[in-house]
Amino acid sequence: AGRKKDIMNRHVLITGASRGIGAAIALAFARQGDHVGINYRFDREGARKVCDEAQGIGVQASIYQADVGNAEQVEEMFSAFIEEFKTIDVLVNNAGGGLKIPEGGFEKMPLSYWNEMIALNLNGAAYCSSFAVKNMKENGIKGAIINISSVHSVITYVKRKTFPYCAAKAGLNMLTKTMGVDVIRLGIRVNAIAPGFISTSATTRYNKEELDAFLRKIPAGRLGNTQDITPLVLFLADPEKSGFIVGQTFVVDGGQSIDGTIDYMLLEEQNGKE
Ligand code: NAP
Repeated sequence: AGRKKDIMNRHVLITGASRGIGAAIALAFARQGDHVGINYRFDREGARKVCDEAQGIGVQASIYQADVGNAEQVEEMFSAFIEEFKTIDVLVNNAGGGLKIPEGGFEKMPLSYWNEMIALNLNGAAYCSSFAVKNMKENGIKGAIINISSVHSVITYVKRKTFPYCAAKAGLNMLTKTMGVDVIRLGIRVNAIAPGFISTSATTRYNKEELDAFLRKIPAGRLGNTQDITPLVLFLADPEKSGFIVGQTFVVDGGQSIDGTIDYMLLEEQNGKE
């Protein structure tokens, strides 16, 4: 897909954009003519590929290495981004995840794991937003910040014992509200998207049995993909379309969180297919 005619020309920074949802978001912005900054922590090759693809579409693109959970690294990333792009119009706080879940119950949870997960999934968004809001204010930009939360900000994920992940994402939803109602005085809109199961490199760790268990919980009867998320990101970034939407978290999960206890496949069998 080539670059669209209605060129947006905005400067967009997407964290955790070397693959998965973040990469899809970066390319969706590029396709509508926005320039993109692609943040990553380890996967330089992945980030490079996304960057090359964006440049191939015809927009300006650069990669920025930084651990979003590290305030100094975030500051350096913003300095580099601002040096190149001068201003920021849209920030997408996408970097996150809940990998490397330790064994055992809450009493066995290493506190280092807690700190790492809160740093990545909550502090990162606060750090990046702080620098973005400063630059937007200085330049009078009525920009947008979009936080990528999770369905596990509203329902638990006790089976995999992701205590800090769920807490951090729930915190991110509240940060979206508190920051949202504050910075709207500057014309900056903050909103969040809470995806359900989205097939990415992060979900290849699940075996067939686990995937089936996920599927059973989703009334829509399928797993999600990155295209289920990207149109809403573009919509929330566009003040012409979503200018009156402030501090909201949109759950995009095929209905999973409406009643997390129902096995929808079993229900269908019991009720008979129509
Ligand atoms: P993914 O495929 O694992 O990609 C994660 C991205 O984040 C990678 O680009 C990774 O880059 C980057 N990253 C990880 N730690 C980082 C750090 N400390 N600093 C900067 N970048 C970092 O994950 P995904 O599935 O696309 O998830 C993206 C977001 O959606 C996350 O916030 C996740 O919690 C949320 N989400 C995903 C799902 C799902 O089903 N996939 C569901 C709900 C919510 P490096 O490898 O270079 O570090």
